[in-house]
Amino acid sequence: MKVALIVGHYVYGKDKGAVSYTGETESHYNKRIALTLQQSLKAHDVEVKIFTRDEYRTFANIAAGIKGFGAQLSMEMHFNSFATASLGCECLAMVKDQDSISFADLVTDKIAEIVGVTERGTGGPSKFNAKSDGVLLIDKGGRGFNNLNIVKGINKTIPVVLVEPCFANIKTEQSRKFFESEYLYVQALEAAILEWLHFDCSKTIDVANIAVSPKNTVEAIMNAVKRDYK
Ligand SMILES: [Zn+2]
Repeated sequence: MKVALIVGHYVYGKDKGAVSYTGETESHYNKRIALTLQQSLKAHDVEVKIFTRDEYRTFANIAAGIKGFGAQLSMEMHFNSFATASLGCECLAMVKDQDSISFADLVTDKIAEIVGVTERGTGGPSKFNAKSDGVLLIDKGGRGFNNLNIVKGINKTIPVVLVEPCFANIKTEQSRKFFESEYLYVQALEAAILEWLHFDCSKTIDVANIAVSPKNTVEAIMNAVKRDYK
């Protein structure tokens, strides 16, 4: 079994993404998480290939690399940042991309359950296949759309998601868990991936009840002026 992990932003380039309250950048944090996850999944006979933009430059190259590798799912790794303390994990999938939506739902459920945080858009952990559930549907022009769309474009049969486990720039009870007990985050991703690969959890969830990004005018304006998605 094969899984593609994409480290968001550049590990060595100028754009390393948002910065956590501990002073660590998105790309450095996620590179480490990806490497740890790669090791832990190896014990379950899952081969993980880590894609960085430093190495592949463009998402077209990454998409081709994922296809060549033969991955059964693709996950791009980020973390959130906002001016005021914000809570909740979220996982992005494109609208109408049913398998990706189901996998995104599983990812946020596992993060909520294992790390012990809330899912963005809901009051707390909820059962697999419940409504909304930390899943953010991305339509054209929405944040992360291009990344997801390019990868999905030539990997049509696999889930393609982008995970934002926490708002990391401000220290909260939730963000602390991702930096002080980050093995829990690795466990959560491992659990979601293994469940997907072993049990084929592709089920129907009620897309009508999931908000489509951008949800509000503030986010819409930010998307319009900020091309580079954090
Ligand atoms: Zn990011």
